Amino acid sequence: MSMKIQFGILNLFLLMIGSVMVVGEEKLPNDIRWIRQSIEYRTLCEQLFRQATVVILRKVKTEKNSDNLAVVVDLDETVLDNSLYQVERWKAGLSFTQDSWSEWVNREEAGLVSGAKEFLKAVRKKGVRVVFVSNRMNKNLEPTRRNLLALEVLAPNDLFLLRLDKDDVKEVRRREVNEGKARMKKVGPLKVVGYVGDQMGDFPSGQAKEFGKTSFLLPNPMYGKW
Ligand SMILES: [Mg+2]
Repeated sequence: MSMKIQFGILNLFLLMIGSVMVVGEEKLPNDIRWIRQSIEYRTLCEQLFRQATVVILRKVKTEKNSDNLAVVVDLDETVLDNSLYQVERWKAGLSFTQDSWSEWVNREEAGLVSGAKEFLKAVRKKGVRVVFVSNRMNKNLEPTRRNLLALEVLAPNDLFLLRLDKDDVKEVRRREVNEGKARMKKVGPLKVVGYVGDQMGDFPSGQAKEFGKTSFLLPNPMYGKW
């Protein structure tokens, strides 16, 4: 066989392997790929949680009354990593629906956002109450608790304010935490020394200068109200 034909066959072979690889491993969209594969995302989250720990614990030290302090922490893409749900929906050519989301939540397969575990441990150690304020529906509280428990980020003292209905926005729940009313009546008013989340709705509005001081924002390029 001549050299030229041999090269021709080799090229054809390589071309075939190449196309099989492209079809078999279709690249995830940048947003999901960045969350699932980049070291930058992981490092940013760890950095954010470390900074939040330092700033919040410094504040705790200066508080005279330290038994009513709390951090308000979001769940999805703050403590829980749901990028697998995003991968599955994308592969199926589908987008977010409330039903598929609820199904995912009930599978209890969310992963852990890097740095969250250490942060929660550190603030609890100083007696700061962890209040999870999440837009997961309250009917899915138990699978959510079990998922957190399996990831070792749940403590018996933690509180949950999940969403009851459409009107039960986070602003309403933050007020209950601050004023010790409604669902927080038994606990009483808490002084929030830190908010952690990945959406602007996770933070009190109109307080842009609080970021890095009381409010700590994680990156989430996969979804949001933008
Ligand atoms: Mg979130």
